[in-house]
Amino acid sequence: MPDRRSLWTRAVAGEPPDPTYGAIGTPIVQATSFVVEPGAVGFSAEDLGDEQPWFYGRWGSPTVRVLEKRLADLDDGEDAVCFASGMAAATGLLLHLLGKGDHALVSDVCYAGVAEFARGLGRLGVEVAFVDTSDLEEVRAALRPTTRVVYVETPANPTLRLADVEALAALTRGTGAALIVDSTIATPMGLRPLTMGADYVVHSLTKYACGHGDALGGAVIGRREDMASLRQRSLIHLGAALNPAAASLILRGLVTLPLRMRAHEEGAVRVARFLESHPRVRRVLYPGLDSHPQRALAIRTLRNTSGLLSFVADGGAALARQLGERLHLALYAVSLGKHRTLVYYLSTDDLIRTSYRLEGEAERRFRAVAGDGLFRVSVGLESPDELVADLGEALR
Ligand SMILES: *Cc1c(COP(=O)(O)O)cnc(C)c1O
Repeated sequence: MPDRRSLWTRAVAGEPPDPTYGAIGTPIVQATSFVVEPGAVGFSAEDLGDEQPWFYGRWGSPTVRVLEKRLADLDDGEDAVCFASGMAAATGLLLHLLGKGDHALVSDVCYAGVAEFARGLGRLGVEVAFVDTSDLEEVRAALRPTTRVVYVETPANPTLRLADVEALAALTRGTGAALIVDSTIATPMGLRPLTMGADYVVHSLTKYACGHGDALGGAVIGRREDMASLRQRSLIHLGAALNPAAASLILRGLVTLPLRMRAHEEGAVRVARFLESHPRVRRVLYPGLDSHPQRALAIRTLRNTSGLLSFVADGGAALARQLGERLHLALYAVSLGKHRTLVYYLSTDDLIRTSYRLEGEAERRFRAVAGDGLFRVSVGLESPDELVADLGEALR
């Protein structure tokens, strides 16, 4: 029977009571081996069946399994596979889907680790092209009969560019290319790509899903048979299994995801408006602002604009040092989606030289948005008024 409860209630009350003890939270089962009936399970991952009893921790384990079911439910997917980090989820999926002679389209602006990994796929005989996934014509023109993957991040880190998942799904449908959406920043509270025609959703659970900055994790969500083969052919052999203790922390985080995302969004709108009115700030990139170039798409598709924003300001790297010294409430640190506000400066020259290797038109496009560098702000759960005061003092 389909679950007719709201997404909000499913996030808060979706965890089944523990069948062994009736505990209202899921126990942490740390064991890596499970007693089985002799002959009941084959020794090879090839023998992995649907009704597999617990066998070995790298194949799956009870605490992680509860998290997988919770994540599938929140994204309206049939099933999910957890990994040890968001990078492990993304790379595990790409290695699973791509082989020699295949072609892949990857967003030219996305999480730096994914961009760097995708470029390295050339060594395996995979041809990778980087495209502006907000430009449907560019994606259409780049598709080939051998394209097996279109990899999109929306909103994209660090420019907060959006992609129209429904339109991309219409483009890729029936072409043999799987549409993968990294939905880490939006979370299921903002966007549910599987309901819009995407084939796979990727999350870094390290960010909003966990929410407290104390566990690394990743997940892929999709169709049941796709998840079964991903587990069998990718997770088990790569070995990047999620630790049950981390899974427990992430389960704890999911319970407050709706409340936290509402607060992250409220804080980010407040901080974004403040920055937009600040004389030192030249541009603010945030899908919750009317000035966002794809504001209409944001209103149509994002139910929550999340807590991540970037801004361009006079002073670049020198201003970054000043912020590092003068911020008291916000912290100068990488990552996003935590309870604390984190600020980090991403120099455009560095990004273009290392992670993105953009040139020509793509470089010109990126510089037009990011200037000499972007200050990325992951707005946390502190009082928005006090955050604005802290940023105001540090920017003087
Ligand atoms: C952080 C992040 C990743 C990588 O996740 P890790 O858990 O750090 O490995 C991938 N995609 C996006 C959008 C991210 O923000």
